[in-house]
Amino acid sequence: MAGGSTLNSFQIAQQQLDKAAAALGLDPQVTAVLREPARTFILNFPVRMDDGSIRVFRGYRVQYNDARGPAKGGLRFHQDETLDDVKALAAWMTWKCAVVDIPLGGGKGGIQVDPSTLSEREKERLCRGWIDQMWKNIGPRTDVPAPDVGTTPQMMGWMMDEYCKRVGEYTPGVITGKLVGGGGSLGRTAATGFGVVVNIREALKVLKIDPKKSTVAIQGFGNVAQYVARRFVELLDGKVLCVSCWDRGDKKAYTFTKDTGVDAKFLQSITDQYGTVDKTKAKAAGYVLEDADAWLSKPATIVVPAALGNAITAENVGKIQSTVKVLAEGANGPTVPEAEAALLKRGITFIPDFLCNSGGVTCSYFEQVQNDMNFYWTEDEVNKRLDEKMSTAFHAVYEMSQKKNVDMRIAAYMVAIERVASAMRMRGWV
Ligand code: NAD
Repeated sequence: MAGGSTLNSFQIAQQQLDKAAAALGLDPQVTAVLREPARTFILNFPVRMDDGSIRVFRGYRVQYNDARGPAKGGLRFHQDETLDDVKALAAWMTWKCAVVDIPLGGGKGGIQVDPSTLSEREKERLCRGWIDQMWKNIGPRTDVPAPDVGTTPQMMGWMMDEYCKRVGEYTPGVITGKLVGGGGSLGRTAATGFGVVVNIREALKVLKIDPKKSTVAIQGFGNVAQYVARRFVELLDGKVLCVSCWDRGDKKAYTFTKDTGVDAKFLQSITDQYGTVDKTKAKAAGYVLEDADAWLSKPATIVVPAALGNAITAENVGKIQSTVKVLAEGANGPTVPEAEAALLKRGITFIPDFLCNSGGVTCSYFEQVQNDMNFYWTEDEVNKRLDEKMSTAFHAVYEMSQKKNVDMRIAAYMVAIERVASAMRMRGWV
């Protein structure tokens, strides 16, 4: 959600809050509470390596705001993890849970580590070590972590197990993103992409555009992009013009285009776990390989950046065609502010990241609900509830943008901040 700025990510998060709070006319004392995380944990803990040595790891957990419910947010394992990043991500989780109206607050955490340098057993000891430090301060009613960059469903399983041992009872709702059969929810893999498509469907409705006549150009072909591409055809009967991906061998990105429309299910079958499509097999199936930015200049109705932050910049924004009516941010922070300003001037409808990609966290919330009931829903039930939540969220934001005459991003902040502020008032915090 940041990008193209000299401020650190937490200062950017505070700036965005200030802007929306001012537009809402929020009491400055309430804004002051929302500008800082409620609790910040900095952990330094030892883990035994396979060679018998001890290594000290630094970990974090930020519980930003829990006025609306337990803190919720992922655990990121990355060597460059900083406390400011974690604080910013925890703030954004607060707004994301509030905008989609799930009864959860915002949190985030992580460990400064490159997980690819560790063995499986070392990763397991690292995960159990983090829980050893934090178990007294997390729980289904306090703070519920989840996977993020560098963490996996298997890691969530180890963490859940360690927590259960500490508290002495089966408590799968302490953490989400677990494997199906190990407390995970059906529908989670597709949830973020599905949510993006529900948002697109609702945007097309208010713009009075026929989805069947609409086309989409997608950046990326990882978890989010794959299910945007599939659901865009399955739910809306639209056409996918292209997808793109990073090729680790060639160290560059390619756009995969097919005139008759991309068959996402087929492309998935020739894509590896990192979201890299097999070029040879794609070419053999009639796909044309174009350069990295080609996805941006397609004559599409909708563009969906679903790969990286800062993908649409002041330099490449001019490539976006006049046919484009909707920009749905599947990724976090894919549009730098200058590019966004240029596109808003052109009248393009934005679906901002923390609204657009909130299907994943919503399904995580459903996972926790199912864990607490110890009763599991079918995939259809999960999708039905997800659809309802996402479309309601889209319209709440759209109505706010119309009522206050602001863009969709500011409107999303306004909806979210108003809900958190109101929960704080009801609890007598402010
Ligand atoms: P992923 O790692 O599964 O896939 C990333 C894709 O982007 C891959 O296909 C990769 O090849 C491609 N890519 C990387 N660099 C590229 C480049 N320069 N040009 C074109 N393609 C490139 O990641 P994901 O889980 O799909 O997440 C994508 C984005 O969505 C991230 O910003 C992530 O933070 C955000 N997000 C993901 C979820 C989720 O549930 N997975 C939820 C919310 C937000």
